[in-house]
Amino acid sequence: MSAPVAGARAIAGDIAAGRTSAVDVCRAALDRIARVNPSLNAFNLVTAERALVRAADIDRRRAANAPLGPLAGVPLAVKDNLCVRGMRTTASSRILDTFVPPYDATVIAKLEQAGAVIVGKTNCDEFAMGSSNENSAYGPVRNPWAADRTPGGSSGGSAAAVAAACVPLALGSDTGGSIRQPAAFCGVTGLKPTYGRVSRYGLLAFASSLDQIGPITRNVEDAALALQVLAGPDPMDSTAAQEAVPDFTKALDGHARGVRIGVPRAFVSDGVDGSVLASFDAALDALRAAGATLVDIDLPHAKYAIPVYYLVCTAEASSNLARYDGVKYGYRSPDASKGLKAMYSRTRDEGFGAEVKRRIMLGTYVLSAGYYDAFYLKAQQVRTLLRQDYDRAFESVDVVVMPTSPTPPFRLGEKTDDPLQMYLADIFTVSVNLVGLPGISVPCGIVEQPRPGGVDRLPIGMQFVGRMFDEATILRVADAFERTTEWSRQEPC
Ligand code: GLN
Repeated sequence: MSAPVAGARAIAGDIAAGRTSAVDVCRAALDRIARVNPSLNAFNLVTAERALVRAADIDRRRAANAPLGPLAGVPLAVKDNLCVRGMRTTASSRILDTFVPPYDATVIAKLEQAGAVIVGKTNCDEFAMGSSNENSAYGPVRNPWAADRTPGGSSGGSAAAVAAACVPLALGSDTGGSIRQPAAFCGVTGLKPTYGRVSRYGLLAFASSLDQIGPITRNVEDAALALQVLAGPDPMDSTAAQEAVPDFTKALDGHARGVRIGVPRAFVSDGVDGSVLASFDAALDALRAAGATLVDIDLPHAKYAIPVYYLVCTAEASSNLARYDGVKYGYRSPDASKGLKAMYSRTRDEGFGAEVKRRIMLGTYVLSAGYYDAFYLKAQQVRTLLRQDYDRAFESVDVVVMPTSPTPPFRLGEKTDDPLQMYLADIFTVSVNLVGLPGISVPCGIVEQPRPGGVDRLPIGMQFVGRMFDEATILRVADAFERTTEWSRQEPC
């Protein structure tokens, strides 16, 4: 499955210098998708014609010496919960099967302005709810490293598309790990920016106090480059922060000297697969070698992150998804003639999948009178304690490091019968969203596991978590780590 694919920066550089054309790059990406997607199922939609027109436009601009954006000609895959004008956008849900947005998400407008060329929309868990991509109405995505394993979720299609060398850059969204965990499972890099760093306008909302959009790439430098384009305030999203946007690429100086990295030992040792711990410990040595100082820290409330997250996100989801009622857009039950109430309930019953229904019901329950104080309010209080844990940690360290997932990529079907087991797999990612901090997952190891007739090589990831709006430091440390190890250059075979 391996194909030599350059990163986004290299591709944009080659196009700008005339060493290749945007149309040739676009054709190569489309060929690759045509070859691997029938088995991967990473794309819900491939927009070949539109992509080739846009690529030709980039080549024309170059020929005319018109200014080119920093991502000019870079093939881009977009998670299917982000609106692109005129392009079917489904959130991998039957209820939006026919939805065509009349506007662009702000991130789409920014990336296209920078010259990126959208080649398609990627498969994901329905409304981004899941950790394995198995909750998609269009079937699961397969992991490019091992076809019977999950690519992670919910941005499984985006991560698989980057790992399988279809595109050097994909967009994901991360509410509780959906960029970082699939990036870890597919052996690529995934960045969840600080809450508010990137506008959410045009993202189909799951849990609005947690959702963030970010890039999935083949290396840290491309993540920095993409964030540079994505970041900044937006009049269309009042939560998009006014915070100044630094030069992220400039922060990558190749080492981690002077950086204090906190290791939450007690939190990390519990219930973590031995192969993940071994990779993690080896990675800590590499960080020391790159100049970082390691410091033991404590996040005493992190163990409550799963229940807190699954109360908060379901509460917000039940409210956000109330809009899918068969009236305004998307699917309407053909059996809708028996009155308004029947139309609502038939449409939602037929349109939503099992996990989405489970969350709507859970969320409605935790918000209902009589239970609100016991569940939702309590969860928000523990969320504050979690924030205080991180605040305290960041008094003595600049970055916190953890595995991204407690296990290597698991098998398709392995956790589908037991939602709780699936939720527990999110233990290391969700606290980061609950507090709003930036986090980046990078490859940090490969574990070999026997399978009938051979051996699976499975990627392991770890994440760096930074202070609010300090993506620059986690990018710097992740880049230094990438340079001292080989993990980001491994390819699925
Ligand atoms: N796996 C988590 C969930 O199921 C996170 C999903 C996400 O980040 N969108 O909610």
